Amino acid sequence: MTMLDLHAVALTDIRGVSGKKMEELGALGLRTVGQLIEYYPFRYEDYTIRDLSLVKDGEKVTVQGKLAGDAQVQMYGRTKSRMICKVIVDRFFITAVWFNRHFLKDKLKAGTDIVLTGKWDQKRQHLTVSESEFPGEGASQIGTLQPVYSVAGPITQKWMRKTVRQALVQFGGLIQEVLPRELVNKHGLMPRKAAITAIHSPENTDQGQQARKRMVYEELFLFQLKMQAYRAITHNRADGVAHPVDLPDVRAFVRALPFTLTDSQKKVVAEILQDLQAPYCMNRLLQGDVGAGKTVVAAIALYAVVKAGYQGALMVPTEILAEQHKRSLDKLFAPYGIQVALLTGSLTDRQRRDVLASLQMGMIDIVVGTHALIQEDVFFRQLGLVVTDEQHRFGVQQRSILRRKGMNPDVLTMTATPIPRTLAITAFGDMDVSTLRELPKGRKPIKTYAVTHDMLPRVLGFIEKEVAQGRQAYVICPLIEESEKLDVQNAIDVHAQLQHHFSALGYKAGLLHGRMSTQEKDEVMRQFTAGELHILVSTTVIEVGVDVPNATIMVIYDAHRFGLSQLHQLRGRVGRGEHQSFCVLIADPKNEVGKERMKAMTETNDGFEIARRDLELRGPGDFFGTKQSGLPDFRVADMLKDFEIMEQARDDAADLVREPEFWTAAAYLPLRQYLQREGIFDSDLMD
Ligand code: ADP
Ligand code: MG
Repeated sequence: MTMLDLHAVALTDIRGVSGKKMEELGALGLRTVGQLIEYYPFRYEDYTIRDLSLVKDGEKVTVQGKLAGDAQVQMYGRTKSRMICKVIVDRFFITAVWFNRHFLKDKLKAGTDIVLTGKWDQKRQHLTVSESEFPGEGASQIGTLQPVYSVAGPITQKWMRKTVRQALVQFGGLIQEVLPRELVNKHGLMPRKAAITAIHSPENTDQGQQARKRMVYEELFLFQLKMQAYRAITHNRADGVAHPVDLPDVRAFVRALPFTLTDSQKKVVAEILQDLQAPYCMNRLLQGDVGAGKTVVAAIALYAVVKAGYQGALMVPTEILAEQHKRSLDKLFAPYGIQVALLTGSLTDRQRRDVLASLQMGMIDIVVGTHALIQEDVFFRQLGLVVTDEQHRFGVQQRSILRRKGMNPDVLTMTATPIPRTLAITAFGDMDVSTLRELPKGRKPIKTYAVTHDMLPRVLGFIEKEVAQGRQAYVICPLIEESEKLDVQNAIDVHAQLQHHFSALGYKAGLLHGRMSTQEKDEVMRQFTAGELHILVSTTVIEVGVDVPNATIMVIYDAHRFGLSQLHQLRGRVGRGEHQSFCVLIADPKNEVGKERMKAMTETNDGFEIARRDLELRGPGDFFGTKQSGLPDFRVADMLKDFEIMEQARDDAADLVREPEFWTAAAYLPLRQYLQREGIFDSDLMD
């Protein structure tokens, strides 16, 4: 592909780029001509001459006029100066003001034609000049849109403009189309060469937008092609486990559950069972609101796999969750003789050795643990399904670890947070997605209140009332950005205060934070689950997955510091039983975003709606937090603003990989080579 050729051409081949300049460009991440011409401006400076009567106060504008007098200079010290000159611009008689440009004085004589760019002060009829040009004098930018690049250090904007222009003059002819012709035609896209030229120096705003749109589509299409090709390849390769699922037996298991599945759960279970039976490797994302009942779906899948003769693994982010899942799976599976084991860091060496041996011999059917479960010296007799719960994206890397051990299990990934559609097709575009759209029947919506700190005494009174009726409460402590140590100190302080307040009434408050040992944490969780503790003060370690149906109050201190999705997750710890539940957000939000968050939380209980607003308030990067967001870094595209193009690109890519010619025809060779370079054919899939 010629794109490749340009990526092999050294920057010094551009006229005017010295070895030194090459190094400076290197600091911007630019090493080849290909990279330089794909270094697009992030905006344009508009030097189109405009009619002053249409310009708003404070706007930046370029105007053409004639000097009505000589310039007057006032010096402040040696280098600072203020220079003014009267200028006639159409019907306007304005004052142009220059700062520290007194060296221009001799050129500013009455009668001279001039083009001025600057900020317009309508009231005083002043133009504060940033650039001036005398028509007919050298290269002109009058009437153009000039690109503005992200530059730094010794590379100036002006030099960058010149160099990119030069690169296009010398090498522009080598730019070749990468998109299939039928897609370029279908969407009326600008050809690649024209688009790259226009994106650097558009003739007008409209052309600039057309060029940008074309490059956005290209970027998103290539990204989606990777995702869709990966999916297609996985589906086509019959090297997964085709579980011989005993459907009547699974149905009997489901009937024996203490509740009826929701329609959503039934649908999702059917999708998963179908994947399990198919010879391809399942790579499915299960998303659903907090409390939608994802765990039982996972349990059914695990049951089906075990009864088909395979082992299952359930990976969770914390040991508290591992323990909890182990307990609930034990309860569900005990009548069927299914063996569940726990594999966490807190086992003794001996216990650990026992578990590992039993796993390898197949005496354990299901193992629950943190993600180290997959990575370490763990061997299964026949691993058939890996379920990951909450926040863990099962990456290509983990898959390849398993493959090296000769296993290619189905994978079900469950997310803690409903994911807005926008992000789902980006971050999880390579997966099949199942969604739980409804909550189990009979759930009472959680009542949420946002209060200020001075209402704390009333909040304590409220907790007291609930506890007196046999209920339990969570109190989540302030979040201090970047400092777990301060979080912990906060929790300790709040615990001491509440302990003091409630012990006088005969109630017990427990404390949970990330600096406690696993044994200590487990013990506290056990006491809370058993009802021995009435109140649990905690840092956000409690955040995901914990299920204590008797808890009905969630109090969150300094709630404005938390992201919306996190607040929703925390709130989801209550409202899991038959009793009316409450969430109290204590906050004194100082800014609009903080106020918006509190408003959103009191307005809706719908996790998908909250996720949507969270994305709006925080942007895609922060939405997933820092951990393995799986979000690509787009150069031109904006994941949110260009969402429609993203969907289009996804559909186009999916259609294309379904065509048999895509995999054979010469016309698609460049795209196949691209996929090859991106590691779609080798990595874990082809090794
Ligand atoms: P999440 O999707 O947040 O992980 P869980 O799996 O923890 O939710 O389920 C929340 C609670 O709802 C659990 O106590 C679970 O037993 C219960 N549950 C799940 N499905 C149903 C259902 N169909 N009907 C009633 N209760 C259910
Ligand atoms: Mg859960």
